[in-house]
Amino acid sequence: MDKTMASSSAVAALLSNMTLEEKVGQMTQVEKNSLAPADVTRSFIGSVLSGGGGYPTPNTPENWHAMVTGFQQAALATRLRIPLLYGVDAVHGHNNVKGATLFPHNIGLGATRDPGLVQRIGRATAVEVAATSVHWNFAPALTVPQDIRWGRSYEGYSEDTALVAELGAAYVRGLQGADLRAPDAVLASVKHYLGDGGTQWGSVPRFGAMDELWGEPERTIGIDQGQTSGSEDSVRAIHLPPYAAAVRAGALNVMASFSSWDGVKMHAHRHLLTEVLKGELGFSGFLLSDWMAINQIDPDYYTCVVQSISAGVDMVMAPFDYHLFIATLVDAVEKGYVPLGRIDDAVTRILRVKQACGLFEQPTIAPDRLDTIGSAEHRALAREAVRKSAVLLKNAGGALPLDKNTPLVLVAGQGANDLGLQCGGWTIEWMGQAGPLTTGTTLLEALRASAAPGSEVRYAADGEFGSGELAEVGVVVLSEPPYAEGVGDRANLALRPAEAALVQRVRARCRKLVLVLYSGRPLLLNAVLDQCDAVVAAWLPGSEGQGLADLLYGAEKFSGKLSFAWPRSMAQVPHSALAASAEGPLWAFGYGLTA
Ligand code: BGC
Ligand code: BGC
Repeated sequence: MDKTMASSSAVAALLSNMTLEEKVGQMTQVEKNSLAPADVTRSFIGSVLSGGGGYPTPNTPENWHAMVTGFQQAALATRLRIPLLYGVDAVHGHNNVKGATLFPHNIGLGATRDPGLVQRIGRATAVEVAATSVHWNFAPALTVPQDIRWGRSYEGYSEDTALVAELGAAYVRGLQGADLRAPDAVLASVKHYLGDGGTQWGSVPRFGAMDELWGEPERTIGIDQGQTSGSEDSVRAIHLPPYAAAVRAGALNVMASFSSWDGVKMHAHRHLLTEVLKGELGFSGFLLSDWMAINQIDPDYYTCVVQSISAGVDMVMAPFDYHLFIATLVDAVEKGYVPLGRIDDAVTRILRVKQACGLFEQPTIAPDRLDTIGSAEHRALAREAVRKSAVLLKNAGGALPLDKNTPLVLVAGQGANDLGLQCGGWTIEWMGQAGPLTTGTTLLEALRASAAPGSEVRYAADGEFGSGELAEVGVVVLSEPPYAEGVGDRANLALRPAEAALVQRVRARCRKLVLVLYSGRPLLLNAVLDQCDAVVAAWLPGSEGQGLADLLYGAEKFSGKLSFAWPRSMAQVPHSALAASAEGPLWAFGYGLTA
Protein backbone atom coordinates (compact mmCIF):
# COMPACT_ATOMS: atom_id res chain seq x y z
CA MET A 1 0.00 0.00 0.00
CA ASP A 2 1.45 3.40 -0.90
CA LYS A 3 1.64 6.34 1.46
CA THR A 4 -1.43 8.18 0.14
CA MET A 5 -3.58 5.06 0.42
CA ALA A 6 -2.40 4.48 3.95
CA SER A 7 -3.16 8.07 4.87
CA SER A 8 -6.62 8.13 3.32
CA SER A 9 -7.63 4.95 5.12
CA ALA A 10 -6.31 6.36 8.40
CA VAL A 11 -8.38 9.50 7.87
CA ALA A 12 -11.44 7.45 7.02
CA ALA A 13 -10.99 5.39 10.18
CA LEU A 14 -10.66 8.52 12.27
CA LEU A 15 -13.69 10.12 10.66
CA SER A 16 -15.87 7.07 11.31
CA ASN A 17 -15.07 7.41 14.99
CA MET A 18 -15.99 11.11 15.29
CA THR A 19 -19.13 12.62 16.81
CA LEU A 20 -20.85 15.50 15.03
CA GLU A 21 -19.47 17.93 17.65
CA GLU A 22 -15.96 16.68 17.02
CA LYS A 23 -16.41 17.10 13.28
CA VAL A 24 -17.78 20.61 13.55
CA GLY A 25 -14.97 21.46 15.98
CA GLN A 26 -12.46 20.57 13.26
CA MET A 27 -14.24 23.00 10.97
CA THR A 28 -13.85 25.87 13.44
CA GLN A 29 -11.02 28.42 13.61
CA VAL A 30 -10.88 30.87 16.53
CA GLU A 31 -8.73 33.94 17.26
CA LYS A 32 -6.31 33.23 20.09
CA ASN A 33 -7.58 36.09 22.25
CA SER A 34 -11.10 34.63 22.23
CA LEU A 35 -10.29 31.39 23.97
CA ALA A 36 -7.98 29.64 26.41
CA PRO A 37 -6.26 26.31 25.71
CA ALA A 38 -8.85 24.49 27.84
CA ASP A 39 -11.56 25.71 25.44
CA VAL A 40 -9.75 24.00 22.57
CA THR A 41 -10.04 20.72 24.43
CA ARG A 42 -13.64 21.34 25.48
CA SER A 43 -14.94 22.33 22.02
CA PHE A 44 -12.64 20.10 19.88
CA ILE A 45 -11.35 23.21 18.07
CA GLY A 46 -9.48 22.36 14.88
CA SER A 47 -7.60 25.61 14.38
CA VAL A 48 -6.51 28.76 16.20
CA LEU A 49 -5.18 31.91 14.55
CA SER A 50 -3.33 35.05 15.42
CA GLY A 51 -4.93 37.90 13.47
CA GLY A 52 -2.93 40.97 12.49
CA GLY A 53 -1.25 42.10 15.73
CA GLY A 54 -2.12 38.79 17.44
CA TYR A 55 1.08 38.53 19.45
CA PRO A 56 1.64 37.35 23.02
CA THR A 57 2.85 39.87 25.62
CA PRO A 58 5.73 40.42 25.77
CA ASN A 59 6.16 39.84 22.06
CA THR A 60 9.17 37.51 22.01
CA PRO A 61 9.86 34.41 19.90
CA GLU A 62 9.94 32.34 23.11
CA ASN A 63 6.47 33.51 24.10
CA TRP A 64 5.15 32.78 20.62
CA HIS A 65 6.47 29.25 20.87
CA ALA A 66 4.98 28.74 24.32
CA MET A 67 1.61 30.18 23.26
CA VAL A 68 1.30 27.98 20.17
CA THR A 69 2.45 24.78 21.89
CA GLY A 70 0.03 25.51 24.76
CA PHE A 71 -2.88 25.44 22.31
CA GLN A 72 -1.46 22.37 20.58
CA GLN A 73 -1.18 20.43 23.82
CA ALA A 74 -4.80 21.24 24.55
CA ALA A 75 -5.82 19.79 21.17
CA LEU A 76 -3.78 16.65 21.87
CA ALA A 77 -5.66 16.25 25.15
CA THR A 78 -8.94 15.55 23.30
CA ARG A 79 -10.36 12.03 23.04
CA LEU A 80 -9.09 11.52 19.48
CA ARG A 81 -5.89 13.58 19.93
CA ILE A 82 -6.31 15.35 16.61
CA PRO A 83 -3.59 18.00 16.33
CA LEU A 84 -4.36 21.67 15.81
CA LEU A 85 -3.36 23.83 12.86
CA TYR A 86 -2.21 27.24 14.11
CA GLY A 87 -2.35 29.99 11.48
CA VAL A 88 -0.76 33.44 11.15
CA ASP A 89 -0.49 36.22 8.59
CA ALA A 90 3.23 36.13 7.80
CA VAL A 91 2.71 38.13 4.63
CA HIS A 92 6.15 39.76 4.41
CA GLY A 93 8.13 37.62 6.82
CA HIS A 94 6.82 36.49 10.23
CA ASN A 95 5.55 40.03 10.65
CA ASN A 96 3.68 39.87 13.95
CA VAL A 97 6.83 38.74 15.76
CA LYS A 98 9.14 41.39 17.11
CA GLY A 99 12.63 40.87 15.73
CA ALA A 100 11.61 38.77 12.70
CA THR A 101 13.08 39.50 9.27
CA LEU A 102 10.71 41.72 7.29
CA PHE A 103 10.84 41.42 3.52
CA PRO A 104 9.48 43.93 1.01
CA HIS A 105 5.72 43.69 0.59
CA ASN A 106 4.61 41.76 -2.50
CA ILE A 107 4.32 44.79 -4.80
CA GLY A 108 8.09 45.18 -4.42
CA LEU A 109 8.72 41.49 -4.99
CA GLY A 110 6.77 41.84 -8.23
CA ALA A 111 9.30 44.42 -9.35
CA THR A 112 12.18 41.95 -8.85
CA ARG A 113 10.75 39.69 -11.59
CA ASP A 114 12.73 36.96 -9.79
CA PRO A 115 10.82 33.74 -8.94
CA GLY A 116 13.98 32.17 -7.50
CA LEU A 117 14.30 35.03 -5.04
CA VAL A 118 10.61 34.84 -4.11
CA GLN A 119 10.96 31.10 -3.52
CA ARG A 120 13.94 31.70 -1.21
CA ILE A 121 11.90 34.32 0.67
CA GLY A 122 9.10 31.78 1.07
CA ARG A 123 11.64 29.33 2.46
CA ALA A 124 13.18 31.79 4.91
CA THR A 125 9.72 32.87 6.06
CA ALA A 126 8.77 29.24 6.65
CA VAL A 127 11.90 28.68 8.74
CA GLU A 128 11.03 31.65 10.99
CA VAL A 129 7.33 30.73 11.19
CA ALA A 130 8.00 27.06 11.95
CA ALA A 131 10.53 28.04 14.62
CA THR A 132 7.58 29.35 16.65
CA SER A 133 5.81 25.99 16.09
CA VAL A 134 3.31 27.57 13.67
CA HIS A 135 2.45 25.35 10.71
CA TRP A 136 0.25 27.56 8.56
CA ASN A 137 0.65 30.94 6.89
CA PHE A 138 -2.18 32.97 5.30
CA ALA A 139 0.04 33.81 2.35
CA PRO A 140 0.71 34.34 -0.47
CA ALA A 141 -1.98 36.73 -1.66
CA LEU A 142 -2.67 35.84 -5.29
CA THR A 143 -4.63 38.99 -5.82
CA VAL A 144 -4.33 40.77 -9.17
CA PRO A 145 -5.18 44.38 -8.23
CA GLN A 146 -6.85 46.34 -11.02
CA ASP A 147 -7.40 49.58 -9.09
CA ILE A 148 -4.57 51.08 -7.05
CA ARG A 149 -6.99 53.11 -4.95
CA TRP A 150 -7.50 49.77 -3.15
CA GLY A 151 -5.80 49.59 0.25
CA ARG A 152 -4.58 46.05 -0.41
CA SER A 153 -2.79 46.84 -3.68
CA TYR A 154 0.61 46.26 -2.09
CA GLU A 155 -0.34 42.73 -1.07
CA GLY A 156 -0.39 41.86 -4.77
CA TYR A 157 2.75 41.05 -6.73
CA SER A 158 1.39 42.74 -9.82
CA GLU A 159 -1.55 43.98 -11.86
CA ASP A 160 -0.45 41.33 -14.38
CA THR A 161 -1.98 37.86 -14.07
CA ALA A 162 0.96 35.90 -15.46
CA LEU A 163 3.45 37.57 -13.13
CA VAL A 164 1.24 36.89 -10.09
CA ALA A 165 0.88 33.26 -11.13
CA GLU A 166 4.62 32.81 -11.55
CA LEU A 167 5.67 34.50 -8.30
CA GLY A 168 2.76 33.11 -6.26
CA ALA A 169 3.62 29.55 -7.24
CA ALA A 170 7.29 30.18 -6.43
CA TYR A 171 6.36 31.43 -2.96
CA VAL A 172 4.16 28.36 -2.33
CA ARG A 173 7.04 26.08 -3.31
CA GLY A 174 9.40 27.94 -1.00
CA LEU A 175 7.05 28.11 1.97
CA GLN A 176 5.98 24.47 1.76
CA GLY A 177 9.45 23.20 0.87
CA ALA A 178 10.16 19.88 -0.81
CA ASP A 179 8.24 17.95 1.87
CA LEU A 180 5.41 19.46 3.89
CA ARG A 181 6.23 17.04 6.70
CA ALA A 182 9.62 18.57 7.29
CA PRO A 183 9.87 20.44 10.60
CA ASP A 184 10.58 23.71 8.79
CA ALA A 185 7.81 23.41 6.20
CA VAL A 186 4.73 25.63 6.46
CA LEU A 187 1.34 25.20 4.79
CA ALA A 188 0.44 28.06 2.43
CA SER A 189 -3.00 29.67 2.22
CA VAL A 190 -3.54 31.24 -1.16
CA LYS A 191 -5.95 34.15 -1.00
CA HIS A 192 -8.45 35.69 -1.57
CA TYR A 193 -10.45 33.51 -3.94
CA LEU A 194 -11.74 34.86 -6.34
CA GLY A 195 -11.55 38.34 -7.75
CA ASP A 196 -10.53 40.31 -4.63
CA GLY A 197 -8.40 42.59 -6.81
CA GLY A 198 -11.18 43.26 -9.28
CA THR A 199 -13.64 45.13 -7.11
CA GLN A 200 -15.18 48.39 -8.28
CA TRP A 201 -14.68 51.72 -6.58
CA GLY A 202 -17.91 52.73 -4.88
CA SER A 203 -19.42 49.25 -4.80
CA VAL A 204 -19.20 49.03 -1.02
CA PRO A 205 -19.68 51.32 1.99
CA ARG A 206 -16.46 52.92 3.19
CA PHE A 207 -14.38 51.00 5.72
CA GLY A 208 -11.85 52.77 7.89
CA ALA A 209 -11.10 56.36 8.71
CA MET A 210 -7.98 57.70 7.08
CA ASP A 211 -9.61 60.29 4.83
CA GLU A 212 -8.58 63.07 7.14
CA LEU A 213 -4.98 61.93 7.22
CA TRP A 214 -4.86 62.12 3.45
CA GLY A 215 -6.67 65.42 3.41
CA GLU A 216 -9.62 63.87 1.62
CA PRO A 217 -13.24 64.75 2.24
CA GLU A 218 -15.22 62.27 4.31
CA ARG A 219 -16.30 59.39 2.06
CA THR A 220 -19.18 57.00 2.30
CA ILE A 221 -17.91 54.57 -0.31
CA GLY A 222 -14.86 52.40 -0.75
CA ILE A 223 -13.57 49.48 -2.79
CA ASP A 224 -12.25 46.84 -0.37
CA GLN A 225 -14.60 43.84 -0.05
CA GLY A 226 -16.73 45.24 -2.88
CA GLN A 227 -18.20 43.83 -6.10
CA THR A 228 -15.91 42.40 -8.72
CA SER A 229 -16.80 43.61 -12.17
CA GLY A 230 -16.85 41.70 -15.41
CA SER A 231 -18.23 38.60 -17.06
CA GLU A 232 -17.26 35.15 -15.85
CA ASP A 233 -14.84 34.89 -18.77
CA SER A 234 -13.05 38.09 -17.82
CA VAL A 235 -12.96 37.23 -14.10
CA ARG A 236 -11.49 33.86 -14.99
CA ALA A 237 -8.95 35.37 -17.37
CA ILE A 238 -7.67 37.96 -14.90
CA HIS A 239 -8.00 36.25 -11.52
CA LEU A 240 -8.07 32.46 -11.91
CA PRO A 241 -4.67 31.48 -13.43
CA PRO A 242 -2.68 32.19 -10.22
CA TYR A 243 -4.88 29.66 -8.37
CA ALA A 244 -4.37 27.05 -11.06
CA ALA A 245 -0.61 27.62 -10.82
CA ALA A 246 -0.67 27.44 -7.02
CA VAL A 247 -2.66 24.21 -7.03
CA ARG A 248 -0.11 22.75 -9.44
CA ALA A 249 2.62 23.91 -7.06
CA GLY A 250 0.98 21.93 -4.25
CA ALA A 251 -1.24 24.49 -2.50
CA LEU A 252 -3.55 22.67 -0.07
CA ASN A 253 -5.38 25.62 1.41
CA VAL A 254 -7.34 28.45 -0.17
CA MET A 255 -8.93 31.40 1.63
CA ALA A 256 -12.15 32.80 0.18
CA SER A 257 -12.57 36.48 -0.62
CA PHE A 258 -14.80 39.00 1.17
CA SER A 259 -15.79 40.34 -2.24
CA SER A 260 -18.79 39.44 -4.38
CA TRP A 261 -19.20 38.56 -8.00
CA ASP A 262 -22.39 38.57 -9.99
CA GLY A 263 -24.22 39.90 -6.93
CA VAL A 264 -23.28 36.88 -4.80
CA LYS A 265 -20.77 36.95 -1.95
CA MET A 266 -17.82 34.70 -2.78
CA HIS A 267 -18.39 32.86 0.51
CA ALA A 268 -21.75 31.71 -0.82
CA HIS A 269 -20.67 31.19 -4.42
CA ARG A 270 -21.10 27.47 -4.94
CA HIS A 271 -20.22 27.62 -8.63
CA LEU A 272 -16.85 29.29 -8.16
CA LEU A 273 -15.94 27.55 -4.88
CA THR A 274 -17.06 24.01 -5.52
CA GLU A 275 -17.46 23.58 -9.26
CA VAL A 276 -14.53 25.67 -10.42
CA LEU A 277 -11.96 25.43 -7.59
CA LYS A 278 -12.57 21.94 -6.27
CA GLY A 279 -13.92 20.48 -9.50
CA GLU A 280 -12.28 22.07 -12.50
CA LEU A 281 -8.97 22.99 -10.83
CA GLY A 282 -8.87 19.70 -8.92
CA PHE A 283 -8.10 21.42 -5.61
CA SER A 284 -7.97 18.61 -3.03
CA GLY A 285 -7.17 20.67 0.08
CA PHE A 286 -9.61 22.64 2.23
CA LEU A 287 -11.22 26.01 1.81
CA LEU A 288 -11.05 28.52 4.68
CA SER A 289 -13.40 31.45 5.10
CA ASP A 290 -12.01 34.90 5.86
CA TRP A 291 -12.45 36.86 9.13
CA MET A 292 -16.19 36.82 9.98
CA ALA A 293 -16.77 36.92 6.24
CA ILE A 294 -19.63 34.43 6.22
CA ASN A 295 -21.54 36.87 8.43
CA GLN A 296 -21.88 39.19 5.44
CA ILE A 297 -23.86 36.70 3.36
CA ASP A 298 -27.23 37.45 4.95
CA PRO A 299 -28.65 39.36 7.94
CA ASP A 300 -29.67 35.97 9.37
CA TYR A 301 -26.66 34.11 10.78
CA TYR A 302 -28.26 30.68 10.38
CA THR A 303 -28.57 31.34 6.65
CA CYS A 304 -24.92 32.46 6.56
CA VAL A 305 -23.75 29.17 8.03
CA VAL A 306 -25.93 26.99 5.84
CA GLN A 307 -25.07 28.85 2.64
CA SER A 308 -21.32 29.06 3.18
CA ILE A 309 -20.86 25.41 4.12
CA SER A 310 -23.18 24.29 1.31
CA ALA A 311 -21.23 26.44 -1.15
CA GLY A 312 -18.01 24.64 -0.25
CA VAL A 313 -16.39 26.41 2.70
CA ASP A 314 -14.69 23.71 4.80
CA MET A 315 -13.35 25.66 7.78
CA VAL A 316 -14.84 28.85 9.17
CA MET A 317 -12.73 31.65 10.61
CA ALA A 318 -15.01 32.55 13.52
CA PRO A 319 -12.63 34.80 15.42
CA PHE A 320 -14.98 35.69 18.28
CA ASP A 321 -18.28 33.91 18.78
CA TYR A 322 -17.27 30.38 17.87
CA HIS A 323 -19.89 28.85 20.19
CA LEU A 324 -22.60 30.36 18.02
CA PHE A 325 -21.00 28.96 14.86
CA ILE A 326 -20.67 25.48 16.33
CA ALA A 327 -24.20 25.40 17.74
CA THR A 328 -25.64 26.69 14.47
CA LEU A 329 -23.85 24.20 12.25
CA VAL A 330 -24.62 21.25 14.52
CA ASP A 331 -28.29 22.25 14.50
CA ALA A 332 -28.31 22.72 10.71
CA VAL A 333 -26.90 19.22 10.20
CA GLU A 334 -29.30 17.65 12.68
CA LYS A 335 -32.25 19.30 10.92
CA GLY A 336 -30.97 18.29 7.49
CA TYR A 337 -30.25 21.80 6.14
CA VAL A 338 -26.63 20.75 5.61
CA PRO A 339 -26.10 17.12 4.59
CA LEU A 340 -23.74 15.07 6.75
CA GLY A 341 -21.92 14.13 3.56
CA ARG A 342 -20.84 17.76 3.16
CA ILE A 343 -19.49 17.78 6.75
CA ASP A 344 -17.64 14.51 6.17
CA ASP A 345 -16.12 15.90 2.99
CA ALA A 346 -14.98 19.07 4.79
CA VAL A 347 -13.49 17.18 7.74
CA THR A 348 -11.79 14.65 5.46
CA ARG A 349 -10.15 17.51 3.57
CA ILE A 350 -8.98 19.14 6.81
CA LEU A 351 -7.64 15.90 8.30
CA ARG A 352 -5.84 14.99 5.08
CA VAL A 353 -4.07 18.31 5.10
CA LYS A 354 -3.12 17.90 8.76
CA GLN A 355 -1.74 14.54 7.83
CA ALA A 356 0.12 15.91 4.81
CA CYS A 357 1.75 18.42 7.17
CA GLY A 358 3.01 15.59 9.36
CA LEU A 359 1.10 16.99 12.33
CA PHE A 360 0.05 13.61 13.64
CA GLU A 361 3.69 12.54 13.96
CA GLN A 362 5.14 15.93 14.86
CA PRO A 363 2.50 18.26 16.30
CA THR A 364 5.01 20.65 17.88
CA ILE A 365 8.44 21.84 16.91
CA ALA A 366 11.16 21.96 19.57
CA PRO A 367 12.07 25.51 20.63
CA ASP A 368 15.63 25.07 19.42
CA ARG A 369 15.30 27.01 16.16
CA LEU A 370 14.26 30.36 17.57
CA ASP A 371 17.59 31.92 16.68
CA THR A 372 16.67 31.68 12.99
CA ILE A 373 14.22 34.54 13.64
CA GLY A 374 15.86 37.68 12.30
CA SER A 375 19.10 35.78 11.59
CA ALA A 376 21.94 37.43 9.70
CA GLU A 377 21.35 35.04 6.80
CA HIS A 378 17.68 36.01 6.49
CA ARG A 379 18.45 39.70 6.82
CA ALA A 380 20.98 39.38 4.01
CA LEU A 381 18.26 37.83 1.86
CA ALA A 382 15.87 40.69 2.71
CA ARG A 383 18.57 43.21 1.81
CA GLU A 384 19.01 41.49 -1.55
CA ALA A 385 15.24 41.66 -2.08
CA VAL A 386 15.19 45.38 -1.27
CA ARG A 387 17.97 45.97 -3.79
CA LYS A 388 16.15 44.05 -6.51
CA SER A 389 12.73 45.55 -5.81
CA ALA A 390 13.49 49.28 -5.93
CA VAL A 391 12.65 50.83 -9.29
CA LEU A 392 14.63 53.80 -10.61
CA LEU A 393 12.06 55.99 -12.35
CA LYS A 394 14.11 59.05 -13.18
CA ASN A 395 17.84 59.75 -13.20
CA ALA A 396 18.51 63.09 -14.86
CA GLY A 397 22.13 63.88 -15.55
CA GLY A 398 23.26 60.65 -13.93
CA ALA A 399 22.34 61.96 -10.48
CA LEU A 400 22.67 58.44 -9.14
CA PRO A 401 24.76 56.75 -7.94
CA LEU A 402 26.00 59.13 -5.28
CA ASP A 403 29.66 59.62 -4.51
CA LYS A 404 30.56 58.22 -1.09
CA ASN A 405 32.82 61.18 -0.52
CA THR A 406 30.10 63.80 -0.97
CA PRO A 407 31.00 66.31 1.77
CA LEU A 408 27.41 66.97 2.85
CA VAL A 409 24.25 64.98 2.20
CA LEU A 410 20.98 66.41 3.53
CA VAL A 411 18.33 63.82 4.36
CA ALA A 412 14.71 64.74 5.08
CA GLY A 413 11.35 63.07 5.60
CA GLN A 414 10.16 61.09 8.61
CA GLY A 415 10.32 57.85 6.62
CA ALA A 416 14.09 58.18 6.26
CA ASN A 417 14.52 57.23 9.88
CA ASP A 418 11.36 55.34 10.77
CA LEU A 419 11.19 51.55 10.55
CA GLY A 420 7.42 51.52 10.90
CA LEU A 421 6.96 53.69 7.80
CA GLN A 422 9.56 51.64 5.97
CA CYS A 423 7.63 48.43 6.70
CA GLY A 424 4.01 49.52 6.12
CA GLY A 425 0.89 47.64 7.20
CA TRP A 426 0.90 44.09 8.59
CA THR A 427 3.93 44.87 10.73
CA ILE A 428 3.64 43.95 14.43
CA GLU A 429 0.18 45.57 14.32
CA TRP A 430 -2.51 44.87 11.78
CA MET A 431 -2.29 48.45 10.46
CA GLY A 432 1.44 48.74 11.09
CA GLN A 433 2.55 51.82 12.99
CA ALA A 434 5.07 54.63 12.70
CA GLY A 435 8.10 54.35 14.94
CA PRO A 436 10.80 51.88 15.96
CA LEU A 437 8.41 48.96 16.34
CA THR A 438 10.87 46.18 15.55
CA THR A 439 14.50 45.48 14.71
CA GLY A 440 16.05 46.64 11.45
CA THR A 441 18.03 49.34 9.68
CA THR A 442 16.51 52.61 8.55
CA LEU A 443 17.65 54.28 5.35
CA LEU A 444 19.30 57.07 7.34
CA GLU A 445 21.32 54.57 9.37
CA ALA A 446 22.26 52.76 6.18
CA LEU A 447 23.33 55.95 4.38
CA ARG A 448 25.52 56.90 7.33
CA ALA A 449 27.05 53.44 7.37
CA SER A 450 27.77 53.63 3.63
CA ALA A 451 29.17 57.15 3.34
CA ALA A 452 32.93 57.54 3.45
CA PRO A 453 34.47 58.85 6.66
CA GLY A 454 34.50 62.61 6.36
CA SER A 455 31.20 62.74 4.48
CA GLU A 456 28.46 64.21 6.65
CA VAL A 457 24.93 62.82 6.36
CA ARG A 458 22.76 65.42 8.11
CA TYR A 459 19.14 64.66 8.98
CA ALA A 460 16.11 66.85 9.60
CA ALA A 461 12.75 65.12 9.33
CA ASP A 462 11.03 68.41 8.43
CA GLY A 463 13.72 69.50 5.96
CA GLU A 464 14.56 72.63 7.97
CA PHE A 465 18.30 72.82 7.51
CA GLY A 466 18.61 76.57 8.09
CA SER A 467 20.56 78.70 5.67
CA GLY A 468 24.12 78.24 4.48
CA GLU A 469 26.07 76.65 1.67
CA LEU A 470 24.18 74.53 -0.86
CA ALA A 471 24.72 70.83 -0.18
CA GLU A 472 25.76 68.71 -3.14
CA VAL A 473 23.00 66.16 -2.48
CA GLY A 474 19.58 66.14 -0.86
CA VAL A 475 17.58 62.94 -0.25
CA VAL A 476 13.88 63.27 0.55
CA VAL A 477 11.86 60.26 1.66
CA LEU A 478 8.09 60.53 1.25
CA SER A 479 6.00 57.78 2.79
CA GLU A 480 2.38 56.82 2.84
CA PRO A 481 1.18 56.36 6.42
CA PRO A 482 0.91 52.63 7.23
CA TYR A 483 -2.46 50.99 6.54
CA ALA A 484 -4.05 47.63 5.90
CA GLU A 485 -7.13 46.50 4.00
CA GLY A 486 -10.03 48.93 3.47
CA VAL A 487 -8.52 51.52 5.78
CA GLY A 488 -6.08 52.14 2.95
CA ASP A 489 -8.73 52.79 0.31
CA ARG A 490 -7.80 56.19 -1.04
CA ALA A 491 -9.81 58.22 -3.55
CA ASN A 492 -6.97 60.52 -4.58
CA LEU A 493 -3.41 59.33 -4.97
CA ALA A 494 -1.85 62.78 -5.37
CA LEU A 495 0.93 63.79 -2.98
CA ARG A 496 -0.34 65.76 0.01
CA PRO A 497 0.52 69.51 0.09
CA ALA A 498 2.90 69.02 3.03
CA GLU A 499 4.83 66.43 1.02
CA ALA A 500 5.28 68.75 -1.95
CA ALA A 501 6.34 71.52 0.44
CA LEU A 502 9.01 69.28 1.98
CA VAL A 503 10.45 68.53 -1.44
CA GLN A 504 10.55 72.27 -2.24
CA ARG A 505 12.28 73.10 1.02
CA VAL A 506 15.09 70.63 0.46
CA ARG A 507 15.30 71.48 -3.25
CA ALA A 508 16.28 75.01 -2.25
CA ARG A 509 19.20 73.69 -0.19
CA CYS A 510 20.92 71.24 -2.56
CA ARG A 511 22.37 70.87 -6.06
CA LYS A 512 20.84 67.49 -6.82
CA LEU A 513 17.75 66.08 -5.25
CA VAL A 514 16.89 62.40 -4.90
CA LEU A 515 13.33 61.42 -4.05
CA VAL A 516 12.73 58.04 -2.43
CA LEU A 517 9.12 56.97 -2.19
CA TYR A 518 7.78 54.48 0.40
CA SER A 519 4.31 53.56 -0.77
CA GLY A 520 2.00 50.65 -1.24
CA ARG A 521 1.25 51.70 -4.84
CA PRO A 522 2.17 54.29 -7.44
CA LEU A 523 1.33 57.83 -6.30
CA LEU A 524 0.83 60.88 -8.53
CA LEU A 525 4.13 62.74 -8.60
CA ASN A 526 3.18 65.70 -10.81
CA ALA A 527 3.63 68.21 -7.99
CA VAL A 528 7.32 67.39 -7.49
CA LEU A 529 8.64 65.48 -10.48
CA ASP A 530 10.32 68.44 -12.20
CA GLN A 531 12.17 69.32 -9.02
CA CYS A 532 13.74 65.90 -8.56
CA ASP A 533 16.89 64.80 -10.36
CA ALA A 534 16.32 61.18 -9.40
CA VAL A 535 13.21 59.30 -8.29
CA VAL A 536 13.22 55.84 -6.69
CA ALA A 537 10.08 53.81 -5.99
CA ALA A 538 11.15 51.72 -2.99
CA TRP A 539 7.61 50.38 -2.20
CA LEU A 540 7.42 49.10 1.38
CA PRO A 541 10.90 47.65 1.69
CA GLY A 542 10.75 46.15 5.19
CA SER A 543 13.41 45.91 7.85
CA GLU A 544 16.59 46.09 5.74
CA GLY A 545 17.11 49.68 4.60
CA GLN A 546 20.72 48.89 3.77
CA GLY A 547 19.55 47.45 0.46
CA LEU A 548 18.51 50.95 -0.65
CA ALA A 549 21.78 52.51 0.42
CA ASP A 550 23.56 49.82 -1.65
CA LEU A 551 21.77 51.23 -4.69
CA LEU A 552 22.01 54.93 -3.92
CA TYR A 553 25.77 54.69 -3.43
CA GLY A 554 26.23 52.38 -6.40
CA ALA A 555 27.53 49.28 -4.60
CA GLU A 556 24.80 47.48 -6.58
CA LYS A 557 22.90 48.43 -9.73
CA PHE A 558 19.18 49.14 -9.97
CA SER A 559 17.34 46.33 -11.76
CA GLY A 560 13.70 46.58 -10.56
CA LYS A 561 10.92 46.85 -13.16
CA LEU A 562 7.45 48.24 -12.46
CA SER A 563 4.90 45.53 -11.67
CA PHE A 564 2.12 48.13 -12.00
CA ALA A 565 1.84 50.86 -14.64
CA TRP A 566 2.38 54.34 -13.19
CA PRO A 567 -0.49 56.73 -14.01
CA ARG A 568 -0.14 60.40 -14.96
CA SER A 569 -3.36 61.42 -13.24
CA MET A 570 -6.43 60.00 -11.53
CA ALA A 571 -8.05 59.93 -14.98
CA GLN A 572 -5.81 56.90 -15.65
CA VAL A 573 -7.04 55.00 -12.57
CA PRO A 574 -8.29 52.23 -12.46
CA HIS A 575 -6.39 50.03 -14.86
CA SER A 576 -9.33 49.90 -17.28
CA ALA A 577 -9.27 53.71 -17.53
CA LEU A 578 -5.58 53.65 -18.35
CA ALA A 579 -6.17 51.03 -21.01
CA ALA A 580 -8.87 53.24 -22.53
CA SER A 581 -6.89 56.48 -22.30
CA ALA A 582 -5.38 57.94 -25.47
CA GLU A 583 -2.19 58.91 -23.67
CA GLY A 584 0.04 56.18 -22.26
CA PRO A 585 0.96 55.99 -18.57
CA LEU A 586 3.74 58.12 -17.11
CA TRP A 587 5.82 54.95 -16.82
CA ALA A 588 4.64 51.69 -18.30
CA PHE A 589 4.46 48.24 -16.71
CA GLY A 590 7.99 46.85 -17.00
CA TYR A 591 9.70 50.26 -16.92
CA GLY A 592 12.78 50.74 -14.77
CA LEU A 593 16.14 52.42 -15.40
CA THR A 594 19.44 50.79 -14.60
CA ALA A 595 22.16 52.81 -12.91
C1 BGC B 1 -9.08 42.04 10.42
C2 BGC B 1 -8.02 40.96 10.57
C3 BGC B 1 -7.05 41.38 11.57
C4 BGC B 1 -7.75 41.74 12.85
C5 BGC B 1 -6.79 42.30 13.83
C6 BGC B 1 -9.72 42.29 11.72
O1 BGC B 1 -10.75 43.22 11.62
O2 BGC B 1 -10.02 41.68 9.46
O3 BGC B 1 -7.33 40.73 9.39
O4 BGC B 1 -6.11 40.38 11.75
O5 BGC B 1 -8.79 42.67 12.66
O6 BGC B 1 -7.42 42.59 15.04
C1 BGC C 1 -7.86 39.38 5.92
C2 BGC C 1 -7.05 38.17 5.59
C3 BGC C 1 -6.32 37.69 6.82
C4 BGC C 1 -7.29 37.46 7.94
C5 BGC C 1 -6.64 36.97 9.22
C6 BGC C 1 -8.69 39.21 7.15
O1 BGC C 1 -9.22 40.42 7.53
O2 BGC C 1 -8.70 39.70 4.84
O3 BGC C 1 -6.16 38.45 4.56
O4 BGC C 1 -5.60 36.52 6.51
O5 BGC C 1 -7.97 38.66 8.21
O6 BGC C 1 -5.93 37.96 9.85
